[in-house]
Amino acid sequence: MKISRRHLFQAGLTAGAGSLLLPGSARAEKATNPKRPRGIVFLVSDGMSQGILPMTEALSQQVRGKGTTWWNLLSESGVVHGLMDTPSSNSLVTDSAAASTAWSAGKRVPNGQICVDANGKTLESIGETLVKQGAKLGLVSTARITHATPAGFATQSPNRDDEDFIAPQFLNRAEILLGGGAAHFDAKKRQDGKDVFSDYEKAGYEVFRSRDEMLNAKSGKLLGLFWDGHLPYTLDRNHSKAMQKKVPTLAEMSEVALQRFLSSSEPFLLQIEGARIDHAAHANDVGSILRDQMAFDDAVAKVITLLAERDDILVVMTSDHGNANPALNGTGVRYRKTNEHFERIAGLKVSHEALFAELKKKKPATQDFLKMAREAFGFDFRTEEAEVLLDSISGREVLEWSHQHNNPPGILGQIVGNHTGTGWTGVSHTADPTQLTAFGPGAENFAGLVKNDAVRDRFLNLLFG
Ligand SMILES: [Zn+2]
Repeated sequence: MKISRRHLFQAGLTAGAGSLLLPGSARAEKATNPKRPRGIVFLVSDGMSQGILPMTEALSQQVRGKGTTWWNLLSESGVVHGLMDTPSSNSLVTDSAAASTAWSAGKRVPNGQICVDANGKTLESIGETLVKQGAKLGLVSTARITHATPAGFATQSPNRDDEDFIAPQFLNRAEILLGGGAAHFDAKKRQDGKDVFSDYEKAGYEVFRSRDEMLNAKSGKLLGLFWDGHLPYTLDRNHSKAMQKKVPTLAEMSEVALQRFLSSSEPFLLQIEGARIDHAAHANDVGSILRDQMAFDDAVAKVITLLAERDDILVVMTSDHGNANPALNGTGVRYRKTNEHFERIAGLKVSHEALFAELKKKKPATQDFLKMAREAFGFDFRTEEAEVLLDSISGREVLEWSHQHNNPPGILGQIVGNHTGTGWTGVSHTADPTQLTAFGPGAENFAGLVKNDAVRDRFLNLLFG
């Protein structure tokens, strides 16, 4: 039924252009590898609703002339498909803290809490369990490393926002930490003035703050934080030489982390999070969401390349929840304008976050804003669109019946949607289950609908029996 991963990956590498398709005979002759995985790579595209995969595929075909790896995996024999369900203990719609806790501690908790249950009881994170078993945890994220999804795998906090409290807790629980959030480790920026970076250094971590230093790092224990807050959106990084020099891509961070784990002999769990897909969904920012999803997909491709000659690593890819459920709507008579409208996404040059920061600084009048918008988006806003957005930013009441969208990000998302055909259900997380894709030894444990609080046991059973 299944093919060996060695052949899968060799086929992927030799077929080129992201294709993983295999000749039928190769499929037929190879049986499932019954081995336990020595390591697990858990890739999380945070807040990735279903509509993002086909839109990213289309954008990638348009701007890079090749498809995406995750889309190819969906039709690849030997790859297991399922859905991850997503509720928390107190809501049909989870936040990232409760979702990460469910995966890590095996228990659903109220939203906002990291490895702390409804009664205030501390739960053991999967990172702590791994250490007891002599295994290693790595956390790679485009968010602050103290943000909910990485934090849930190694720390406890009754309040996810207390990131100064979370920062010191990764010490000796996670072997590799790569991402943003330097401010929470920096004596000058922490509330308590504590130098958390030096605590990590004393414990043997190689600490660095730039892409070059990461690429030249020698140690096995790494703390690399490249930005005070979340790492910049890929869309903004693509247009900034300074950001490219300072901040590595998710694929580069993933490679550095995975190579270290592959070259040691201990069992490991490596979480790789494309975090800003979620933030772009909250911002109804279609350009940023698809560019960050492409960067996430590059990380998936990098992982597959690094595992080409191996059959002992399980790869699981999913999301913790949907968010604002973006989708491409058909436009024009018989939807004939759809492609033309969608293709405008390739011309978006600035994240909504960066645009709002600029608007706050410049406070432009309508005509000046129309010029800014033309430059940022590559198409002309209608004057009424510009006016309603500027009104909303300055707190004036606008006609917008959807409460979810009655705010500047919601309104900007709808205006860009008018020109690109993209629509959003709101600006918040949704209850939808998320795509789940797995391959490698033990992948069959991730078929069908998987409860988010069942993941911990499955990972630990696979690694340690
Ligand atoms: Zn999330």
